Amino acid sequence: MHMTTIQCSHDILVIGAGITGLLAARTLQAHGQTVIVLDKGRGVGGRMATRRIGSAVFDYGAQFFTARDQEFNALVDVWRAGDVALEWCRGFAGPDGVAHTDGHPRYRGSTGMTAVPKYLARGLEIVLGQRVTSAEALIDRWRVRTEQGETFFADSLLLTAPVPQSLAILDAGATALPAEIRYALDAVSYHPCIALMIQPETSRLPSPGAIQFSEGPIAWIGDNVQKGVSPHAAITLHADAKFSRDNWNSDDAKIISEIHSAASAWVKEPVSDVQIRRWRYAKPEILHPEACLSLEAPLPLVFAGDAFGTPRVEGAALSGLAAARALLGRV
Ligand SMILES: Cc1cc2nc3c(=O)[nH]c(=O)nc-3n(C[C@H](O)[C@H](O)[C@H](O)COP(=O)(O)OP(=O)(O)OC[C@H]3O[C@@H](n4cnc5c(N)ncnc54)[C@H](O)[C@@H]3O)c2cc1C
Repeated sequence: MHMTTIQCSHDILVIGAGITGLLAARTLQAHGQTVIVLDKGRGVGGRMATRRIGSAVFDYGAQFFTARDQEFNALVDVWRAGDVALEWCRGFAGPDGVAHTDGHPRYRGSTGMTAVPKYLARGLEIVLGQRVTSAEALIDRWRVRTEQGETFFADSLLLTAPVPQSLAILDAGATALPAEIRYALDAVSYHPCIALMIQPETSRLPSPGAIQFSEGPIAWIGDNVQKGVSPHAAITLHADAKFSRDNWNSDDAKIISEIHSAASAWVKEPVSDVQIRRWRYAKPEILHPEACLSLEAPLPLVFAGDAFGTPRVEGAALSGLAAARALLGRV
């Protein structure tokens, strides 16, 4: 049972401290808005996730990012200049063990993928460990409640959680959306991904330390030591979307055994103490066509994230910037 606490009102409340929410919040704050960011996680970054297990370090969500858009490239230049991000390589190996380079830099966070969101979080008002349960439109402002018993108020609301989770928050606050908007948002869908974190004795992955597969059950196998983020053996394995969907409710032991045997050419030893993370909304499958979705009524409300416009880390970042512009356009 939690005590109910009521927080002072902000111009803008952002749900989600992933790259979308953080970039939006920074931009809004830089333009003089009072901004608060809420996240249910223990740290910032969302799917740009790094975990330490003993002395091993794993990137277990996004593994790298690319930069094609000019605006995003300018941000990446700043992160690189500040040693927040760096180039990992220009292409990964295929299942044949041969590296395929294509000239496009693949970037990583300097100490793991969370290095970027941690940097973006500096100077922002972020409240972690707050799972938002409802967002209700009062006459003149939003009332946002959390499972932890806190209540927050804001003039505008920016939703950056995966779309089904954002819709559940509005539904719980009885906030109705116009039918055509609701229809478009209900159409957004995501692929799941089951991630395994393994600490083998040795790694046999070809340079630059990762293999991309075009056929399941494995989509990705990455060596966090060769990548440069872990001092001790740390392998991340991602099951492909089909295996992840088919085995979502399977025992961990069955998942570990099947994925480990599919990866036996690269992880030969028996493995124990494998950690599993099930990402229900890993990567968007059907996207909303706009970089963000902005509504005026009942109160200012914006949806953003990697399912808006273009996917991946880059698409999420661009969506966050678009959301900030949409909100600033109203001020
Ligand atoms: C396994 C995996 C591999 C990937 N590989 C790559 C890759 O190699 N390259 C690439 O570019 N992209 C990759 N991606 C995709 C990339 O991680 C995402 O596109 C990007 O990080 C999305 O950022 P976001 O801010 O939109 O969402 P998120 O990072 O998901 O942030 C949303 C935040 O909302 C919070 N939240 C949700 N619900 C609530 C609630 N009720 N209350 C409070 N907070 C809430 C979450 O905790 C989360 O922190 C991968 C993703 C996964 C899962």
